[in-house]
Amino acid sequence: MVDIKALYELQLLDTEISEQESALADVRARLTDESEVRKARERLRRLEVQFEEVSGERRSVQVSVDQFSEKLKGVETRLYGGNITNPRELGAYEVERDMVQRQLSGEEDKLLELMVQFEDLQGNRDKARSTSERLESERTENVKDWTLEEGRLVSELEVQYGVRGRMTPDIPPAALSTYEMLSKARDGYAVAMIERGACQGCRISLPTSVEQQARISDAIVQCSSCHRILYVD
Ligand SMILES: [Zn+2]
Repeated sequence: MVDIKALYELQLLDTEISEQESALADVRARLTDESEVRKARERLRRLEVQFEEVSGERRSVQVSVDQFSEKLKGVETRLYGGNITNPRELGAYEVERDMVQRQLSGEEDKLLELMVQFEDLQGNRDKARSTSERLESERTENVKDWTLEEGRLVSELEVQYGVRGRMTPDIPPAALSTYEMLSKARDGYAVAMIERGACQGCRISLPTSVEQQARISDAIVQCSSCHRILYVD
């Protein structure tokens, strides 16, 4: 004799178990997945490297600006100092002054551009640093919660599998394997109630004789359409 109610209750339990199993898989996936924190850390590292490069470049262009300024000052001192009267010599100094002036303003342009880059990178680096720190501390908090959740799910599942282990020996093996097979094929929905003359698994109307059979039979009665095990409450 097959107790269809027991199969129906087994299905309720299996539904709970599968929900818990997927919640457990989900929490474990979150515990393993550090990609968000890692990406933020990598972005910060990249920006730090770029920032160091631009800082270094800025320092060396600054040195070169200072050198050209000094040089220009020297040329101008000689040019306007009044000691040179020879027009050819004066002309040569003017040519040199113009050249140094051009070099200086070239370096000054470079410096200006680097300073803009420097400030942008500094801002982006600081933002990336605070994002990375925020994500790390959020994750630390989350990991604590998720670990607790994982432990809770594991012990709940242990209890549920214990209950299942006590339920199944009372079910005839053939009925149990029909249930298991249907459950696998129908995504955990093997036992369907009959309500208002219809199978609730596929909504098809059943002949009264089938409903009657499901109500009184000692054996499994299956829906002719979806093959689910029919159950009358
Ligand atoms: Zn059906």
